[in-house]
Amino acid sequence: MIFLDNAGTTKMFEECAETYSFYACQEYYNPSAATRKSAKISAEINDVRSLILKKLGTMEGTVIFTGGATESNNLAIKGAIRGGDYEYVFSSGEHPSVLNVAKSLQMQGKTVHFVKLQKNGQIDPEDLKSKLNQKTRLISCMFVSNETGAINDIKELSKLRDKLAPNALLHIDAVQGFMKIPFSVEDFKVDMLTFSAHKFHGPKGVGGLYVRKLNYIKNIVDGGGQEYGLRSGTENVPGIMALRTAIEKIDVRKNYENVQSLKQKFNEIISKESGIKILDFQGSLYIESLVFTGVKGETMLHALEEKNVIVGLGSACSSKKAGNRVLSEIGIDKNDIISSCRVSFNAYQTLDEIEKAADIIIKVYNDIRKRVS
Ligand code: PMP
Repeated sequence: MIFLDNAGTTKMFEECAETYSFYACQEYYNPSAATRKSAKISAEINDVRSLILKKLGTMEGTVIFTGGATESNNLAIKGAIRGGDYEYVFSSGEHPSVLNVAKSLQMQGKTVHFVKLQKNGQIDPEDLKSKLNQKTRLISCMFVSNETGAINDIKELSKLRDKLAPNALLHIDAVQGFMKIPFSVEDFKVDMLTFSAHKFHGPKGVGGLYVRKLNYIKNIVDGGGQEYGLRSGTENVPGIMALRTAIEKIDVRKNYENVQSLKQKFNEIISKESGIKILDFQGSLYIESLVFTGVKGETMLHALEEKNVIVGLGSACSSKKAGNRVLSEIGIDKNDIISSCRVSFNAYQTLDEIEKAADIIIKVYNDIRKRVS
């Protein structure tokens, strides 16, 4: 099977399963207990926090471990809400775990602004400017779009924040960027950042929220006060340790180069078939979309699965409409959207595998076209 839906999830490294098993079946102590064994586990969790800070290119702040990016996004946004006359700004291309929180804030009567996307999939800086002011409490925006792969210029956003909304916190959802694309929090000057382990070959159901200062947010779950009181509940020790194993194994720069050659090869083959359009927003090398002229994306997805090639239809964790939402926001033709599939690579795939997948995609497309015409 050739898996081209790596923006949806990735195959976990075997080494992560070994780590997981070790901390689930042998070193399974509750980090909050009073024993020395528990204290050791608690110290190891702190070591993972430090490792993540290093990977984020910062010495400042800390990481709150969560049950994945959906929870991290909820914590960042709901945790930052304050009473009073504040305003909240979101890009309209956000994942449902941000967008739906924003909508519920709106229902509660908060002042919420949604910023338009440009044709290249990036947030529109002019529209953003018009929505920032002294009352802005939070700006939440993706680093890399899970739908289009478009990369937002976070440094630029952060400059705009400094200039126009100096009281605002800047949160980024870096799920499709962390451990995939080289960047640093110091460079970006963001206050909070979301990541999720299963997007970079770690386990599902574990992720985190980087916070520059703990007092930016309040807890959204009450309980035993773990994770600096911001995420109560016994820590997912096996998951956090398996996440560490994934981080230790990955060489972000080397992987980025590998993906570059994979994508180049893939696009070279696909572009030979004039019926297939590549929607490449010149963003992340890991993600692009294909438009199969005259054939529905969904039909292609199922026919490809029959041939052991797995592609995606936009965000797997939302309805199919969500994929349409982002693509239509940036002005992609309705018919093209219906005919589109998302293709996303991982750095451990081989050129052979990718060439084979591209050949199968072209063959399946031509077979369907012959049948429907
Ligand atoms: N944000 C983005 C940009 C994503 O791509 C995803 C996963 N599709 C999420 C958030 C949610 O991640 P999780 O599955 O860890 O909750």
